Amino acid sequence: MNTTFMKHATTPSSHQPTVRLKSTFWKHYQELIAQEVLPYQWAVMSDETGVSMADDPGGNNEFGREKSHVLANLRIAAGLETGEHYGFPFQDTDLYKWIEAAAYIMRQREEPQLRRLVDSAIDLIAKAQCSDGYLDSFIQITAPTRRFARLRESHELYTMGHFIEAAVACHESTGYDKALNVAIRMADCIDRAFGPEDGKIHGSDGHPEIELALSRLYEVTGEQRYIDLARYLLDVRGQDPDFYDRQDKADGSKPFIPGMSQFPKSYYQAAEPIREQKHADGHAVRVGYLCTGLANVARLTGDAELADVARRLWDDIIRKRMYITGNVGSTRVGESFTYDYDLPNETMYGESCASVSMAFFARSMMNLQPAGLYGDIVEKELFNGALAGMSLDGKHFFYVNPLEADPQASAIDGNPDRHHVLCQRADWFGCACCPSNIARLIASVEDYIYTTKLSHNGDILTIYSSQFIANSASFEDGIAVDQRSDFPWNGHIEYSISVPAAATSVDFAIRIPQWSQSEASAVVSVDGSVIDATPGIDGFVHVSVASGATVHIECDVDMRVKLMEASTRVRHDIGKVAVMRGPIVFCAEEADNQGPLWLHRISVDSWAKMLETNKVDEHYDEDLLDGVEVISMPDQMRTLSSTEDDLYQPVSNDTDSETSFADSRLTLIPYYSWANRGRGRMQVWFDSNR
Ligand SMILES: [Zn+2]
Repeated sequence: MNTTFMKHATTPSSHQPTVRLKSTFWKHYQELIAQEVLPYQWAVMSDETGVSMADDPGGNNEFGREKSHVLANLRIAAGLETGEHYGFPFQDTDLYKWIEAAAYIMRQREEPQLRRLVDSAIDLIAKAQCSDGYLDSFIQITAPTRRFARLRESHELYTMGHFIEAAVACHESTGYDKALNVAIRMADCIDRAFGPEDGKIHGSDGHPEIELALSRLYEVTGEQRYIDLARYLLDVRGQDPDFYDRQDKADGSKPFIPGMSQFPKSYYQAAEPIREQKHADGHAVRVGYLCTGLANVARLTGDAELADVARRLWDDIIRKRMYITGNVGSTRVGESFTYDYDLPNETMYGESCASVSMAFFARSMMNLQPAGLYGDIVEKELFNGALAGMSLDGKHFFYVNPLEADPQASAIDGNPDRHHVLCQRADWFGCACCPSNIARLIASVEDYIYTTKLSHNGDILTIYSSQFIANSASFEDGIAVDQRSDFPWNGHIEYSISVPAAATSVDFAIRIPQWSQSEASAVVSVDGSVIDATPGIDGFVHVSVASGATVHIECDVDMRVKLMEASTRVRHDIGKVAVMRGPIVFCAEEADNQGPLWLHRISVDSWAKMLETNKVDEHYDEDLLDGVEVISMPDQMRTLSSTEDDLYQPVSNDTDSETSFADSRLTLIPYYSWANRGRGRMQVWFDSNR
């Protein structure tokens, strides 16, 4: 057993507070993860439940869609049973992400049954691990002589990286280190195989992830080799553009995932060295994981150049390549980014995993250098892009998250460019990366609330409160923070911050969301006195809390319903508006509206008057979709042409809108809650009279 980690008990992550979640919204979701999502996913991975699997939206269906077989693959690798490997080369990761989610859930709740399952899974994984630490059931069963031989497509480091992440979560959450010992042996195995020295492999995995996993392992073990290896694996990427081709040639056998060599090198972020990359190109999830690793390694090594690369790629995504919901990935081809401002709404990809990866990236950027805009993106993903990936019953999932959907287009005899866009969440996928990824994000929302800045001697200088998620938190120095709210439905947030006399005074920083900074900014009062709530350049309002003091802060953010427009560089949204309230993007479903939805037009010119005269109704409906805010407003509908009308005709001189439009109403629900009432059209962007 490698006991290196025992020698480094003091770690950077030990300053994370203990957070007890109190948010009604998120407690409900974590309850769902504990009671429904994790047991359901375990049953699927054990092949105990028959599920109807959707096609892999990326088009790789040759790996089978009959069953998951994840646990069976590992039992075969462990020699406990005989049989063939089934599923994708990275099938093991479904279980690893499930373990990670379970570890987070066990922080908040006693879950003896869950703990037994996690224990049994880790025992199985330890049995399947080779004596030198290597573990990848696909390679062990199907190609044991071809370890690390086709890194473009083998996903070996990606797969082991996911276990390392799960093990770190187990270590931090439950305090037991059985999993961490397996992870350390894995990392040591990778460290022996990869590195700048002669005789080692001078390349990296086609799917980034190991870099962020090793940075996390370094944080809990303090083992320098792991962060050095993480930095090496970042830097070696793209140094030798022919690396993967040469490996394939040397291997000479059939590919693990046929067709992957057809993608351009940018798909694997291997077209140029990372320090020279200017754009977030290629497979969106890979970019998100790579950038998370990049930001972590920059922080942990003090590498300023890497930090600049992380900021550059962040800007590229946030300013030019992200949907209003936080989804990323504009095309199904390669599940990829395309070019700046190319954000089609109905043929897009917006993979759930890509949103999860953007939440990771944002948190890593926040840790690198706190700024409110990182909290803005975490919030955007939590309440929109990522959350939409799971149904309200916790047993159905989206891989692709469109901003406009039509069952007719998605049907098998519809439009092939839109077959990947489901209008109803699937039970499971042959490539099931998304379900457990969403689970681990929701299960760990409390990790996204606070970031601390420490003095050189380890005292807490600043506590950044990035998310309005009600909780009570205790920090190492005895500092306690209690946050109360009914967010996201209500914008009134209260904090009580207590600093013991023995601790130094603390700067408490509250993020003022970007959506609450225009016109009426937020209102903040400290012990009853209103203070200037204009956020600093970092996007936070700072309040000093003295030693021995308890301070009460009230904060009211702008929850008015807003019409949003896109940059005019986004051709797909030109002349259109979307509706937001607080952080939540709203959409219309056919279930609540007269169709077709594209006929609806929102009058921007009348918007101020509609608000003034209370024509825009907003109310919380506790019986709808597990409780959601519903927005209803007057609008107009174009007249639907008769099927007898000519398909094309000269524009009529009669421009009287009375004959072309009829008064109507538009009812909107939160985007994350769509497709929970059967199949129907959905739309986020609407025509306006602009
Ligand atoms: Zn996915």
